[in-house]
Amino acid sequence: MLLVALAVSLAHAEPTPTEAWLHLEIGEEGPFRGRVRYAVALDETTTELHVDASPRVRVGRASLAREAGGGTALAVSTVGDVVTLRPPGPILPGTVLLTLDFTTRGSTEDQTGFFAVQGKNGPFYYSYFEPNHAREAFPCFDAPRFKPRWTVEVVAPSRFTVATNAPLVAVVSLARANRWEFAKSPPMPSYLVAVAAGAFHVSTVRGVGRGDLNVRVLAPSENAGIAVSRQVRGAVERVEAWMDAPLPWPKLDVVVSEAETWFGAMEHPGLILARRNDDADVAGAILVHELLHFWFGDVVTPRTWADVWLSEGPAYWATGPIPGSDTAAWFWDGGLQWGTPGAVRPAAVGGRELELTHRQQWGAAALLELLDTWRSLQPSDAPSLRAVLLDYVALRLDGHSDTGTFVAALAAAWPDLPVEPVLLGLLDEPGTPTVALSWACDSPSATDAPSATVYLTQTRGPGRSGLPPLPVFIRAEGGPSFAVLVEDSLTLHLGTCPAWLVGNATGAGFYRVDYDAPARAALDTYAAGDALTDRERFAVDAKP
Ligand SMILES: [Zn+2]
Repeated sequence: MLLVALAVSLAHAEPTPTEAWLHLEIGEEGPFRGRVRYAVALDETTTELHVDASPRVRVGRASLAREAGGGTALAVSTVGDVVTLRPPGPILPGTVLLTLDFTTRGSTEDQTGFFAVQGKNGPFYYSYFEPNHAREAFPCFDAPRFKPRWTVEVVAPSRFTVATNAPLVAVVSLARANRWEFAKSPPMPSYLVAVAAGAFHVSTVRGVGRGDLNVRVLAPSENAGIAVSRQVRGAVERVEAWMDAPLPWPKLDVVVSEAETWFGAMEHPGLILARRNDDADVAGAILVHELLHFWFGDVVTPRTWADVWLSEGPAYWATGPIPGSDTAAWFWDGGLQWGTPGAVRPAAVGGRELELTHRQQWGAAALLELLDTWRSLQPSDAPSLRAVLLDYVALRLDGHSDTGTFVAALAAAWPDLPVEPVLLGLLDEPGTPTVALSWACDSPSATDAPSATVYLTQTRGPGRSGLPPLPVFIRAEGGPSFAVLVEDSLTLHLGTCPAWLVGNATGAGFYRVDYDAPARAALDTYAAGDALTDRERFAVDAKP
């Protein structure tokens, strides 16, 4: 007890931004300049503060104050992306206001930070900050564990329309420019801050979803926004039904880019950025995915980038296959093959090169599909994974998700299943497990009917043993699907002698099956036609 109290008294929180005010000025041709002010909570005396800013951002005047106005000038020094700010004396505990003037170059090449796309009506400015590109736009505390509330204002040429995450409060006319003032946002990490500016065509879809939202679609041309305008109502209704809740944000704009974007689309709360896609079904599915992120990622934010599978996994899993893609192949292609051999939860995440992998996205969805299938094949009435996810999110609104608390929540909801070793074993697996499968029938005596013995051996890389348990889904001719847990190996006895046996029943297993020649020949010979589902067939055909 004493030790615990001592540990608590010694543990200091790092300097934490609680509020942010961002003032941006955008010219016809850039560059951007602006001022950002953070209220930073300090619980111990310090001599310096640090913010992130890439070489694209130049920090000018910096000052520190206890209240708005005045303040002490700070010495600014930069090493790499880290800007160190030093006042002449120590900074005492409490809340300080840190104000930084800056300029930043927009980009036309790499679509990170602020970037410009040239269109018929002049430049259109967008932002893309995930995972660590906000520092290319303005000085910031560029990590998802920081979630200040943001108040943004943007000065832009009079012919521009400007949108950010939060509702518009006022447009103030200046000489040849307007100042767009936006409401204070809910808590939000830097990677989700969004700004769009340009001579957009704006259309409004009225009375959308449970919040009766008026959704604006901002597109470079009328045609570029048509597919999104047609799909957004259905997409909002679909995610609100899945989440059984209204969209957890006070407004919604969808901003369309005419240019191909390497990142596809981005789930900034209140301002989805999507590239033009004239296939309405695909445009709708992309909106569904990004809207699911409003809960998984936006309002409940991964604490670190190693936890981002808790954003992408549920968003992909709940979206399901994108129209036009091969339904059976979807989890397999995305989850098990692309991005291999990265882990769903990478061991080391950080640095300038950090990018999200397919493994953390479709791979995480495939892992969730495995978990829920495993649960569904048990005799118990444990709640569905969807129900667990909804409860998990509801308890953490405006906060964070992380692997430890999610594993604990799932283990508590499914007490009869060894959730922790299974889930952690798969999250950290640098590749896809393989299960070697063989089986044979024999008769214990001349009078008994023959029955099958099934041999399952798990491999996760050469020479490894003591493997974490893996749920394996089996189905034999004429029987139901069932789940077994395989550690290094397992021998099963069936009461019958089937003509064929499939080692990834339902096709939802997060592993590949290496059938021996007789087992594969039995499938090829006897499991033709409708004996297997499309997904089971795809899993059989996916070679280890
Ligand atoms: Zn996503």
